[in-house]
Amino acid sequence: MKILILGGTSESRNLAAAVNEEPGIEAVTSLAGRLADPVLPVGQTRIGGFGGPSALAQWLLQNSIDVVVDATHPFAATIGTHAELATRLTGTALLVLTRPPWKAGEGDRWTSVASMPEAAASVTPGSRVFLTIGRQGVHHFAHVEHSWFLVRAIDRPDGPVPPHMTLVLDRGPFDERHEATLLAEHRIDLVITKNSGGDMTRAKLDAARATSVPVLMVDRPARPTAASTVDTVDAAVDWLRNRLLAAI
Ligand code: NAP
Repeated sequence: MKILILGGTSESRNLAAAVNEEPGIEAVTSLAGRLADPVLPVGQTRIGGFGGPSALAQWLLQNSIDVVVDATHPFAATIGTHAELATRLTGTALLVLTRPPWKAGEGDRWTSVASMPEAAASVTPGSRVFLTIGRQGVHHFAHVEHSWFLVRAIDRPDGPVPPHMTLVLDRGPFDERHEATLLAEHRIDLVITKNSGGDMTRAKLDAARATSVPVLMVDRPARPTAASTVDTVDAAVDWLRNRLLAAI
């Protein structure tokens, strides 16, 4: 059984490593090519966009793909839609692997917003903001002149950026102590993040809770799907095993 893993997440790398051990399954992971120095998964990889849903469909046929696993980031909505269309066009099976969103608990001071522009509009003048949304959305805050931003990303944002900003280039995972020190050193009074979910980047939320710093949480884009959906790598491997058994 030949599978295409749409990647760019830790789950996709864990899945590639897991299926590498599975007899009868051959996997190739696809990355968008956004990062200058990506962490590569075990096994075969291809890098770069396909050129839209029809081109993805053609790629699936040319490479005799039996199953697509969409293990992309919950905020990568376009490739998810393309995967739906391309698998429907070609009659290829689709499995969506997506981590559960974070949920506010006791002591959290979260306000949910639906989008980056809404988050930008919600910043109170004079704020000292820890903006931890990756580099792609930073341009939404470029017009916010009344506050100061600590922006953390793996690579430098390439669009416009806020006028009062310090950039930290760093890659997680981070622990709570690291995050609490960052919040204290920069006298942060607001954290802006998106609801990515997962353990790799949640320490900033634990630190914000422990220090009573409020969080503006950007909700995930809606991603309706008719495909089977799982939220752990183990469940994805089980699903693939069952599919393989059914085909024998
Ligand atoms: P997106 O908006 O959903 O996709 C934009 C375009 O990038 C797609 O139309 C596709 O180009 C290409 N693309 C995206 N993921 C791809 C993949 N895995 N393999 C090949 N092409 C891909 O995606 P995005 O938000 O820019 O994210 C890009 C990648 O970074 C994703 O793979 C995602 O898993 C990872 N990532 C995203 C975030 C985030 O916050 N958005 C965070 C961490 C990691 P074509 O139409 O030309 O095929």
